[in-house]
Amino acid sequence: PAAGEVLLQAIDVTRKFGGLVANNTMNLSVAAGEILALIGPNGAGKSTMFNQVSGVDTPTSGEVLFRGQDVAGKTAREVARMGMSRTFQHVRLLPEMSVLENVAIGAHMRGSKSVLPAAWRLDRAEEARLLAEAARQIERVGLAEHMFDAAGSLALGQQRILEIARALCSDPCLLLLDEPAAGLRYREKQILAELLRKLRGEGMAILLVEHDMDFVMGLVDRVVVMEFGEKIAEGLPEEVQKNPAVLEAYLGG
Ligand code: ADP
Ligand code: MG
Repeated sequence: PAAGEVLLQAIDVTRKFGGLVANNTMNLSVAAGEILALIGPNGAGKSTMFNQVSGVDTPTSGEVLFRGQDVAGKTAREVARMGMSRTFQHVRLLPEMSVLENVAIGAHMRGSKSVLPAAWRLDRAEEARLLAEAARQIERVGLAEHMFDAAGSLALGQQRILEIARALCSDPCLLLLDEPAAGLRYREKQILAELLRKLRGEGMAILLVEHDMDFVMGLVDRVVVMEFGEKIAEGLPEEVQKNPAVLEAYLGG
């Protein structure tokens, strides 16, 4: 996609769970080559919104367009093929297997829920293709020196980056990250931020849900703030940080 092209558009997205309105007429967009953060206090509706835009869940009303196409009703595999790829809030790795195998299996399983190696039956050519693609993405994210280490032996920050390598295998133009900095040490956050800047430099669009204000402020281009299912602010990080409604939402709750 051309720089600045709008890739993702959520239009008046509402998601109700019984009487609870988890997302109320939410609008947001992500353009090629930008990093957008979705922030807000616990229970604000961020994960629900993330599920709407990634096609994991379907809005009660409103729509989500990715490159002009409605995401509703598409399988995760179809969404991945359209160019949108996501990581999950909790690391999903096969700890005994190598970094390379984890990324290759992830690439193969992309879009399906199971990561059981038993399901990994491939012919030689397909296996070679997946391993080569996995190795390429591992190098891209800076984990080459750990290629043959057991995934479970990596530090949490490296495991998160491994998951990003996995997500990159489907060659997305939009990456969705659910709380990528959660639980990381300061230095690990710096390394992760460097990687996300590098990917942005390559034209990648990134939407991240994040609780960690400091991580977001130094990194992203734009911020959307949610509270009680609604958007309460949107803008540049330094603007949003000074917004009284945002301070109230974070400090008052
Ligand atoms: P956040 O990620 O910002 O912490 P969530 O999107 O997880 O917020 O949750 C927003 C609200 O929606 C919360 O009140 C939560 O309890 C409710 N909620 C989320 N998912 C479901 C669900 N599957 N069923 C019922 N309520 C839900
Ligand atoms: Mg959440």
